[in-house]
Amino acid sequence: MAEPTPRLAPTAPSSQLLAAGQNDYRIDLLGLGRDALIAEMARLSLPRFRADQLWHWIYHRGVTDFNAMTTLAKPLRMALAETHQISRLAVSRRQESDDGTIKWLFRLADGNEIETVFIPEDDRGTLCISSQVGCTLNCHFCHTGTQRLVRNLTAGEIVGQLMAVFDDLSDWPSGRDDRYVTSIVMMGMGEPLYNYDNVRTALKIIMDEAGIALSRRRITLSTTGILPQMQACGDELAVNLAVSLHAVTDELRDILVPINRKYPIADVLQACREYPRATNARRITFEYVMLKDVNDSPADAEALVKLIAGIPAKVNLIPFNPWPGSVYETSSDAAIEAFARVVMRAGYASPVRKPRGRDILAACGQLKSASERLRRSQRQDQAETA
Ligand code: SAH
Repeated sequence: MAEPTPRLAPTAPSSQLLAAGQNDYRIDLLGLGRDALIAEMARLSLPRFRADQLWHWIYHRGVTDFNAMTTLAKPLRMALAETHQISRLAVSRRQESDDGTIKWLFRLADGNEIETVFIPEDDRGTLCISSQVGCTLNCHFCHTGTQRLVRNLTAGEIVGQLMAVFDDLSDWPSGRDDRYVTSIVMMGMGEPLYNYDNVRTALKIIMDEAGIALSRRRITLSTTGILPQMQACGDELAVNLAVSLHAVTDELRDILVPINRKYPIADVLQACREYPRATNARRITFEYVMLKDVNDSPADAEALVKLIAGIPAKVNLIPFNPWPGSVYETSSDAAIEAFARVVMRAGYASPVRKPRGRDILAACGQLKSASERLRRSQRQDQAETA
């Protein structure tokens, strides 16, 4: 079949240009969902199966070089390489903890930075992915909330974290039995449901069976309970849901998780009851940070199990991870154990989350990129050259 070699004009939408490297105006294919990739092929007068082939190379094999895509005719490879690219996030810094946890600081095309954390365990490995630069929520005990500069990540930047980690750990081709990354959690920087559209595109790419093929059962999205998007998340993605509860009264949750003033406990729990996958097999995880003398008494535990009665759930107790300038203390082991006992007696699993990577500030709530500082120094540079 004679397929015309397309002469491709780079007329990508500006968001795609932004996702590409600075001064690189080739269209970035990374982060285009299936339909968008098919549409891009159609724009180039290429048949749909070209999108399937590209998908395989990009998301199953992890290839970034069009020339390595041997199922594509050579002239097509060359034409695509001129006008398109498959980008990778740039690694600013890579740190490895004494316990094997790895944290990457990635630099985005606009100079902002985000963090991604890999947590290896005996029989699995979890990748903790960010959804925003910084976070607008300002939870009182969370380091990320102290970062002022915030923007949503593009779908390409969300999938890009996983792609870069697959490169680093040699996890290509995807889906191998001995792979390092076996599950992902949307628990890094940011509130994923405030960036729902891009998170949805990214997770659909990640779940697609012809590509990375990570099952929805191995994906958990953590939210403070942004009600308008919770239902859509269940309907459209049906991934596991984790909800950051942290307090049993609105009075306290208003302080710890200020978005509670907009989405209070009772409403969030009602949305959990209605979450489409809240069956016994697919329990909702309630995250509960253990803050010494703030929310960690046996009475708090009793109140908690009353609140969540009837919801298929488990309660993940997270010992508070300190960060420079934090005002809280971690509950004692004895307090955490006593709390867990009450929750367990009520019939809920209550695993205590082992702090991982504290020495490199990679544990829950410790992520904060230097974007703000970078911005300031950039401003300084500009002022100096003005
Ligand atoms: N915005 C989402 C995603 C962040 S997930 C959410 O809030 O759910 C990160 C989890 O770590 C959340 O449950 C968060 O409340 C918790 N966390 C934040 N700071 C922490 C800290 N210093 N110690 C322990 N857990 C923390």
